Amino acid sequence: MAIYFAAGLNCDRECWREERRCPSCSKISRLEHPDIHLIYPIPYGSIEKSLPVIIESRRKNFFNSGEFGRKARSIGIDLIRSVIEAASKHPFEGRKTIMILFEAHLATREAQNAFLKLLEEPPESVVIILITEHAGKLLPTITSRCYKVRFNYLSISAVESILRETFSLKKEEAKKRAILSEGNIRRAVRYGDERFRATERGAKRIVCTVLDRKPRDITNEAGILAKEYDREELEMLLEEVARIFRVLVRTEQVNGGVPESIMNELGEDRISIARLRNFPEDLEKILSSVNNLRKNADVELTLLQLLLDLAGEWY
Ligand SMILES: [Zn+2]
Repeated sequence: MAIYFAAGLNCDRECWREERRCPSCSKISRLEHPDIHLIYPIPYGSIEKSLPVIIESRRKNFFNSGEFGRKARSIGIDLIRSVIEAASKHPFEGRKTIMILFEAHLATREAQNAFLKLLEEPPESVVIILITEHAGKLLPTITSRCYKVRFNYLSISAVESILRETFSLKKEEAKKRAILSEGNIRRAVRYGDERFRATERGAKRIVCTVLDRKPRDITNEAGILAKEYDREELEMLLEEVARIFRVLVRTEQVNGGVPESIMNELGEDRISIARLRNFPEDLEKILSSVNNLRKNADVELTLLQLLLDLAGEWY
């Protein structure tokens, strides 16, 4: 949407969807327009090296991700300074200079503070777009200066057709991933990654253990998890557990179909119990454990407490 919007601001004909685009729109569609600045979180170090790597990769496929593997990424103060500098210049070709910050919540505190002044009084020719799935992680001083536009999840069929057209997946695989994706393309793409699938398997095992409510299994499971996963991986794993509960509660309402991969692993009995769960409560418990893990709480104890708590729903 941000790219479409940027195209619209610099086009007289609204030709983005047409086959013969104006020079401005076709440059934007190739992510090559000199007045459209794409800002992505990068690993610590040189902007000159890292940013082009991402942009080159997204030019090939806009939905690519993970160019830097597991390295921590951020939008640091240097990156924001380069944005501020670019904003001070007149557009080269178009009417507007457009700054699009992807995963804006990964901007450091320092960077966000440096950004405030530009956000408050951008030059007339500058439009700034922050994109995030975690607006709550932005400073309130940032969000209060922005006009918020919320987007719904994509429909399963929309995800499926993007997977088929852009990623050339076969119909069956595209459909499976579309259902698992919860309307999120990035998620659908990650199912191609073995490490992600391993996490998903681990999460299903946790869900089974919780639903079976056998205290001894729960204790064992907490011990195994604490040995097998580091803190960062556990966070991903627990988010995955939350997702499975959400899928179980939601798919019944949406289309009656539980994804086959979950169905096979959990079995119908567990699924019919899981469908009655209070998902907001589950989510709250899980997020609070994630928070504790971030605050360096003991891993095994935190997990044990969480699993017992999740299972305790049914005592
Ligand atoms: Zn155009």
